[in-house]
Amino acid sequence: MDGSASYDSNNIFGKILRGEIPCHRVYEDDETLAFMDVMPQAAGHVLVIPKTPSRNLLDADPSVLARLMPVVQKIARAAKDAFEADGITVIQFNEPAAGQTVFHLHFHIIPRHEGQALRPHSGQMEDGDVLAANAEKIIGELGS
Ligand code: AMP
Repeated sequence: MDGSASYDSNNIFGKILRGEIPCHRVYEDDETLAFMDVMPQAAGHVLVIPKTPSRNLLDADPSVLARLMPVVQKIARAAKDAFEADGITVIQFNEPAAGQTVFHLHFHIIPRHEGQALRPHSGQMEDGDVLAANAEKIIGELGS
């Protein structure tokens, strides 16, 4: 990779990891954080990120991915149950040309219902109370 696409710790998810800005957390362990997307493409849209800095999938260490993916699966299962979804879409963008807007590796987990289109990517900001309630629903499933 050339120097034009390196990790910049000033990105918004880096700030969330350092506690500089808040998030609606649904899960955390030593390696991973999962929290609600503030501009959800459907109710229950969660982002799963590694704590180890990587810009995206292209520069991530495979060992980081190996620890991240079981959490992606765990959150996907919990979100599916919490929202009685028919399916789960997992999305991951790499570089601006592919749609990436925040440059810390993340996986989108989006509950889907039959016949319901996704809302736009980085569209409308959701109400904080709604995000908090949706986070609680997923946390409830993780605990069971
Ligand atoms: P992308 O980099 O395009 O895969 O997407 C970045 C995602 O981060 C978008 O879905 C945004 O809605 C979401 N987002 C941006 N800022 C925040 C934030 N402070 N907390 C939670 N989600 C965010």
